[in-house]
Amino acid sequence: MRPLVAHIEESALAHNLAQVRRYAPRSKVIAVVKANAYGHGLLNAARGLKETDAFAVLNVSEAIALRDAGYQQPVLLLEGVFSADEMTLVDRYHLDTVVSHQAQLSWVLDSAPNIPLRVYLKLDSGMHRLGFQPREYAHALQQLTSSANVRELILMTHFANADVADGTAAAMQVVAQVMPASYARSLANSAAIVQQAHTHADWVRPGIMLYGATPVAEKSASSLGLKPVMTLQSGLIAVQQIAAGDSVGYGSLFTADKPKRVGIVACGYADGYPRHAPTGTPIAVAGHLTRTLGRVSMDMLAADITDIPQAAIGSTVELWGEQVPVDDVAQAAGTIGYELLCAVTARVPMIVT
Ligand code: PLP
Repeated sequence: MRPLVAHIEESALAHNLAQVRRYAPRSKVIAVVKANAYGHGLLNAARGLKETDAFAVLNVSEAIALRDAGYQQPVLLLEGVFSADEMTLVDRYHLDTVVSHQAQLSWVLDSAPNIPLRVYLKLDSGMHRLGFQPREYAHALQQLTSSANVRELILMTHFANADVADGTAAAMQVVAQVMPASYARSLANSAAIVQQAHTHADWVRPGIMLYGATPVAEKSASSLGLKPVMTLQSGLIAVQQIAAGDSVGYGSLFTADKPKRVGIVACGYADGYPRHAPTGTPIAVAGHLTRTLGRVSMDMLAADITDIPQAAIGSTVELWGEQVPVDDVAQAAGTIGYELLCAVTARVPMIVT
């Protein structure tokens, strides 16, 4: 068997959820499990997060998978429904939905739910992606308030800049102006949870921090008290001894200046490892931190094992996990932990422990 596997640590999910509650002790938690739980497997993640107050997903199909697995908590459709007919499924599966524009609002008003709905009314507080403009918000709120189809309203926004110090100040001014204080609010993602306490409000919506990666570039996940959930683990499938002047991999991007031992690792971009991770990206072989060499190929990459004499075919390799934070690999590759976790491909077996 090819020695590549993604280990998912259920107890780390529970730990990170508890950490969210430590940061935001007065808020209820909506665990964001969209995108196959940021690549961890929807139901794997849901098990580790079973103590959450609610879940949030992107598609109705994900919401139905949670219901079919027996989860009774509120399940929120983060972008609302994409067509009027999906309102039938919202009703049948007792889902909560976001309303972020006039068409979605009409779909809610025109639906005939058996049980009136819990609706999140989204404000555009500056991201200009989804949400009603501040000048339209009061009217949308009034239409939903007076509808018999709606039993509960939660006012919601999503910050464009929660990951920078003071980055929510302008958005919070808009929130204060247009959201009546008598309604419950949901504002904060992971970055706002860890560093913008004044945004916590009634319901927080953590995603990335539940998976043990950092939402804030300048702070490591471990310094935020988070534990990595996924360990992407492989092994050496070949070892090469190269001389000074020899190159490694496609394009000969790395050339040795002295003799080196090179370990060939069973993981490539077809597994989700970033092709643009350059020479020097951190990786651990046989428990020792080292670096990658040359270009990542489809099924393999190379690691420098010159200073790890015990490394041999079969030695364990950690692409990311406890020893090599996914955020460090992401930084080397010019991206964020979110993208790497979501990108692990279906051919990588997952083992839940
Ligand atoms: N809320 C909304 C509306 C989102 O789109 C997301 C993720 O993109 C989140 C919350 C969770 O964000 P994060 O993973 O940064 O905590």
